[in-house]
Amino acid sequence: MEFQLTDIQEEIRRMTQEFAAKEIRPLADEIDKKARHPEELVRRMAELGLLGMMVPEEWGGAGLDAVSYAIAMENVSWGCASTGVIMSVNNSLYCDPVQKFATDKQKETWLRPFATGEKVGCFGLTEPASGSDAAHMNTRAEKKGDRYILRGQKNFITNGPFADAIVVFAATDPSVGAKGVSTFIVPKGSKGYIVEKNDDKLGIKGSHSCTISFDECEVPAENRLGEDGHGFKIAMGTLDGGRVGIASQALGIARAAFEAARDWALERKAFGETISNFQAIQFKLADMATEIDAARLLTWRAAYAKDKGLRNSRESAMAKLYASEVAMKVCTQAIQVFGGYGYIRDYPVERHFRDAKICEIYEGTSEIQRIVISANVLKQGAMGVLGV
Ligand SMILES: Cc1cc2nc3c(=O)[nH]c(=O)nc-3n(C[C@H](O)[C@H](O)[C@H](O)COP(=O)(O)OP(=O)(O)OC[C@H]3O[C@@H](n4cnc5c(N)ncnc54)[C@H](O)[C@@H]3O)c2cc1C
Repeated sequence: MEFQLTDIQEEIRRMTQEFAAKEIRPLADEIDKKARHPEELVRRMAELGLLGMMVPEEWGGAGLDAVSYAIAMENVSWGCASTGVIMSVNNSLYCDPVQKFATDKQKETWLRPFATGEKVGCFGLTEPASGSDAAHMNTRAEKKGDRYILRGQKNFITNGPFADAIVVFAATDPSVGAKGVSTFIVPKGSKGYIVEKNDDKLGIKGSHSCTISFDECEVPAENRLGEDGHGFKIAMGTLDGGRVGIASQALGIARAAFEAARDWALERKAFGETISNFQAIQFKLADMATEIDAARLLTWRAAYAKDKGLRNSRESAMAKLYASEVAMKVCTQAIQVFGGYGYIRDYPVERHFRDAKICEIYEGTSEIQRIVISANVLKQGAMGVLGV
């Protein structure tokens, strides 16, 4: 067993940290305050190969592994959590299922331009009446000759307001529940594809999301992704990979909050000395750093299991659960270290706090991660797929 990154992973770490520090972080406060979509950063991520990181080079991607993706997601999110989630959705929720389940003919249209970042995708599973209980969806796809007619609504769709296409899940046979769900790729501009108004959110304000309605939306049958009735499996497998991305996003936010708190503790004076001299503050920083390290180990283990071709549901659920809860804890403590200044918008930790919360909600809430983990450990015991 080795705790060393490969040369390529090390290079990705160096490149993305420099990109985040020089180009992303200087814009993060303004992006948040104006709730602005960071178009210029999306273009730069495309140039740097960060929008199709795990897609093979022959299909326009960077051909990298999931560990490299986790490293890059942490660094980009350290710079700006909104930019991180735009990247994560295109990589793990759009490109990943298309790469795995599309035919070569479909890949030309629906993978290559999205892996290069020329276009951006989104993922539609959640509906107004079914989020955690995703199998009980109301969206229907009815086959009519060489087309499907989609009817329904998907909400909270990240990248939805500007995405060029959506990977969307709809019931083709509602009588068999999860086994009657199929997946479709629907381009923006299709008849009956309606982009509703942007959501007004607590955090990740530069990441725009919205409801997308399908009003008798016509989709050619050749746009079905994978087999009829396999959609729910595609969705769940996709989320296993996506959760590694969200765990990494949580890590980036937590590290940014920790660093801000450490720097503040080294500067701020009370009772005639810097507050970093007080053991109460030192112990907070010690706990924050320890928990961030533990979360990173879980996250990289989940990514490594994916790279080994192993089913990593349990590992990715543990990583996402732990890293997102650590991010909330670290951000809460960072505000405490800042005292009153932590509560004021002139300082970055209140943004980190607002951004961190979503990591406990999307791609499965913490409660849903605990359901996935407990189901796995009840069947298979304490050891995961890697035996550690
Ligand atoms: C900003 C944002 C971006 C998002 N982006 C996307 C996206 O791009 N694509 C997409 O498809 N979705 C997206 N989502 C949706 C997100 O994944 C869902 O909000 C999430 O899965 C929870 O679903 P819900 O909101 O319907 O909550 P509910 O399912 O209604 O849950 C409400 C509460 O009940 C708990 N709960 C539910 N069932 C159980 C149970 N069996 N046991 C214990 N507790 C339970 C939940 O954990 C939660 O605390 C996004 C959401 C937000 C807010």
